[in-house]
Amino acid sequence: PRAHPTIRVRPLTCTETRRGDQRVVHSLGDGAVHVSAARHDATFGFSAVFDAGASQEAVFEGSGMRRLVELAIDGFSCTVFAFGQTGSGKTYTLMGPLAQSDTQSASPALLGLMQRSFTCLLEQSRSRGSDLALSASYLEIYNEQIRDLLSPGPPCALPLRWSKTRGFYVENQLSVEFDSLEAIVSLLLQGSQRRRTSAHALNRHSSRSHALLTIHIRSRAHHPSLWVLQAGACPSKQGSLCFVDLAGSERVKETGSSGELSVEANSINRSLLALGHCISLLAKPRGKRTHIPYRDSKLTRLLARSLGGSGITLMVACISPSSRCLSETLSTLHYASRARRVTSRP
Ligand code: ADP
Ligand code: MG
Repeated sequence: PRAHPTIRVRPLTCTETRRGDQRVVHSLGDGAVHVSAARHDATFGFSAVFDAGASQEAVFEGSGMRRLVELAIDGFSCTVFAFGQTGSGKTYTLMGPLAQSDTQSASPALLGLMQRSFTCLLEQSRSRGSDLALSASYLEIYNEQIRDLLSPGPPCALPLRWSKTRGFYVENQLSVEFDSLEAIVSLLLQGSQRRRTSAHALNRHSSRSHALLTIHIRSRAHHPSLWVLQAGACPSKQGSLCFVDLAGSERVKETGSSGELSVEANSINRSLLALGHCISLLAKPRGKRTHIPYRDSKLTRLLARSLGGSGITLMVACISPSSRCLSETLSTLHYASRARRVTSRP
């Protein structure tokens, strides 16, 4: 299977409408997106395109997300990642609108891919007689440092290691077991809150870190003749489902970003560049493929398994339809087009 790039175009926001921004992105159906502005006229093809009117449910059902959940249960490493410039709808797509207040939760219709996947996973788990053991880990990469979003206390950097059997892994990462929707949603909210407050004060709503929530799924096969098998030969499968909310992809404007902000922006750019680089190398035909530089960033190291080896990846490229975002939109679409050609061998 390939990496499956899906495009989501968000509606114009009130501010954009009020100031008279033009809509320059249109879906033509059949996976085609058309971008037309004064000096640009381009059409891109993808496996699925969701236009401004598409509901959260339509995105879940039409993106192949349900299938991805099933594959994770079957033991595959599955990853969905949302990318695009700040404000393009990444977090909205994954989690729905941010809770306005602690007491008021979002309407069920607006829940994102994550909550919908959790529901689907728990339903499957229940229908299989609870032979799935579920646990979650949640971390962010901020300025090339990995922080655990689930462990209490001030964030501290965790080391990233490599071993022959496990590949790249984060040492001492907390993994919390759960068996209900409430439990996993509350882990998600706790972690996201930690992420936001740890981000820079000036960017409360734009995430300056990459966040990775991973669900580990271990299935204990209840085979009638299991007792005959030796210990260690127990046929258990272990899959994972990882949700990646990437930091904004916009280029750093030289003006106005200095000190801490420019360090932030540089590490975001570096890791997104490294990711783009790995993706375009993976897109080459297998015979012509050279060494894939996963080691160039923490992000690519953590995603190595899902991108290259045995993983299945769903990419959701989020774009704004506004004329003011034209150049970022074109760059996101080019980035997503490169990923289209990536194949993996799960
Ligand atoms: P990002 O995570 O890419 O920075 P957000 O997900 O925070 O962007 O979205 C920016 C704003 O646009 C938020 O106010 C969000 O509620 C709104 N928004 C994004 N996508 C949609 C959508 N599909 N429908 C309605 N509002 C959206
Ligand atoms: Mg966001």
